[in-house]
Amino acid sequence: MNFIVVILSGLCFWLPCFGDEEKYLRAVAMRIWSFSDAVVEWRFCVMTTRDVSLDLDLAGVPTVPFWRPDSVAILNDRDALMRFNRYWRILSRRALAKYLIAKRFPVDEYDLNDMDSMWRIHRDSLEEFHEFLDSNDDSDVMSWYRGRDTPRWNLLRLKRDLAWAVVRSCKFCEFKCGVNRLEGKIGVCRVDARARVASIFVHIGEEPELVPSYTIFFSGCNFRCVYCQNWDISQRITGVHIAPIEVAVRIDEHWRANEIRNVNWVGGDPTPNIHFILDVLMSMDANVPQVWNSNFYNSIEALQILDGVIDLWLPDFKYGNNECALRLSGVPRYFDVVTRNFRIVSSRGDEILIRHLVLPNHIECCTKPILRWIKDNLDLSKIRVNVMSQYRPEYKAHKYKDISRRLTSDEFSEAISYAQELGIPLTR
Ligand code: SF4
Repeated sequence: MNFIVVILSGLCFWLPCFGDEEKYLRAVAMRIWSFSDAVVEWRFCVMTTRDVSLDLDLAGVPTVPFWRPDSVAILNDRDALMRFNRYWRILSRRALAKYLIAKRFPVDEYDLNDMDSMWRIHRDSLEEFHEFLDSNDDSDVMSWYRGRDTPRWNLLRLKRDLAWAVVRSCKFCEFKCGVNRLEGKIGVCRVDARARVASIFVHIGEEPELVPSYTIFFSGCNFRCVYCQNWDISQRITGVHIAPIEVAVRIDEHWRANEIRNVNWVGGDPTPNIHFILDVLMSMDANVPQVWNSNFYNSIEALQILDGVIDLWLPDFKYGNNECALRLSGVPRYFDVVTRNFRIVSSRGDEILIRHLVLPNHIECCTKPILRWIKDNLDLSKIRVNVMSQYRPEYKAHKYKDISRRLTSDEFSEAISYAQELGIPLTR
């Protein structure tokens, strides 16, 4: 069986490498290495999925053993278990997803027409919410949760109402268009108030920590990346309107069937749809981690609303400076905004899986400054970084000479070596 897979894998590499024997042999060798590595990891992992020292019992966590043996191996990866400990505790049924706690957390009654007072109540309640989480361990929080009903005025509902108020003069992201999307107006993202879902399915192509992941792809994006790999849904408004309750029911079904590890909000970008996402969560009660898979160009207001809702941040870190971002994604002040957001969530002690897609010819201006910045500014104890090699010129990339080809193996090796030199915790 292994032999057949290796032969097939080798053939897959032959066509793109036609005429370049050395490249072909290197690709085949890499494939054989990674496949046998994965098989060894898988065999090891099916023997035990209990990490006693971390008090995690991951035996019931869903995996994809045949297609993604690394989704099994990760359950014995001590580094991954430690850095994303809260995420794994939720999956161990030892902790609660934050949105569930927020839904039971009482807040003062508020007036929907008085946004200033809503923000004030939100700020004070969020502070109490964090104090509550810091001063109680998981089992205390679980007992507290089980011993009470959902109050009429609760933190999740307040967040939902605030989000719907923001949509009237939208500033979910740093473009701060100020348009009333409830009236059908659109900003840079081209999304009015009605979310459009391009696809929704159990994804097995994400990082091993995440798969199987229930992924909700929204159409529309505030970025204009000329190389966008999902341009058909991000740069065109497509997809369908689905009622939040329907999304909630689908999530619930997959969760109860133990088919998913998390809910993965993505796009395009999920940011223009925060109000919709909170509507979905208001209808749910599954203890499933919430993952924010975004370009991270969120406004401070959006980050405040998402605080106490998101369990694992999954942001891109695309560029190491403002200029490359403006030229290739049409985004002003990119580096300033995104680094501010990284600082905010990291300083709260949140868990973050950072994705960096290495672009050809952008090692010195983007990859290295990004890795250096992560090392110098973030709490690495709760971070893992995926340095990604799969760039391919898509969409309008052929018009930009620097990114009109694939990444070379030398460029990728340089990126990985630099990350390793800095001691950045990597995932793959
Ligand atoms: S989400 Fe961002 S781009 Fe879209 S309307 Fe709101 S502020 Fe503008």
